[in-house]
Amino acid sequence: MQGVWKGAVGGAVIYSGKELIKVSSVKNTYAYVWPARLLNSIGSSMIYNGLNNDKIFSNLYFQFYCTYIRYNFKNNDLTLKIDPITIGYAAYLMIDRNYIFNLKNTLQLGSFMFENITDTSVVDGKKVLHVGTTGLTLGNSFFAKKYRLMIYNMYKQPDGTYAFTGEKYIKNMSLETNLHEIVHTLQYEQCIPMNYFLNKGIFLWNPAFYTLYFSGNIRGYDNNPFEKTANFYSKSYYDNLRYISR
Ligand SMILES: [Zn+2]
Repeated sequence: MQGVWKGAVGGAVIYSGKELIKVSSVKNTYAYVWPARLLNSIGSSMIYNGLNNDKIFSNLYFQFYCTYIRYNFKNNDLTLKIDPITIGYAAYLMIDRNYIFNLKNTLQLGSFMFENITDTSVVDGKKVLHVGTTGLTLGNSFFAKKYRLMIYNMYKQPDGTYAFTGEKYIKNMSLETNLHEIVHTLQYEQCIPMNYFLNKGIFLWNPAFYTLYFSGNIRGYDNNPFEKTANFYSKSYYDNLRYISR
């Protein structure tokens, strides 16, 4: 019972962090990503401290690239654990020639960021459209495609599909895709306290996140609550334009 209020407060802090991702996407900037990460770490720490029956601010646990760090305020000591999932995935993306490491985004976002450089252009009449978004996060490493999406005036055809007329605006798709993946890294960190009984004092794996994530996929990718959340917080204001344009 002791830990419940800490969990509730922690949850509220985590929620505020996600709201900052929303601010980032609407303002078209990465400036709020690190503050969002910090709030996510603080909120997750409160939950973790609650589970451990520690005082709510006794330890700060935070994900920092491929490490998971615990800082104990009382003893002023710092322990560092390596996250094998993050390292393994980053190593894979480093070796695969379809991806290139993006240092700038890595520094801006607090995750190892790789660009997928495969071409997904689609020729629509005389125009070349870069369609779809793609990205995949494992641990605190992710890849995303880097491109700008040309959005045209959309209208619904009698058969229910959409067609485009004329150029309407250019959407910064990279920002949206990156922020979507960043929400997944925050969800990953958030689930670390749930591994408490498995990782007793140490951090090795994060099975809680993957169990929850894949069970969320049962009703399809689009209905997965983890994906719905990531979409909700990363969607830029351009998306609203898309639905009102005709
Ligand atoms: Zn996703």
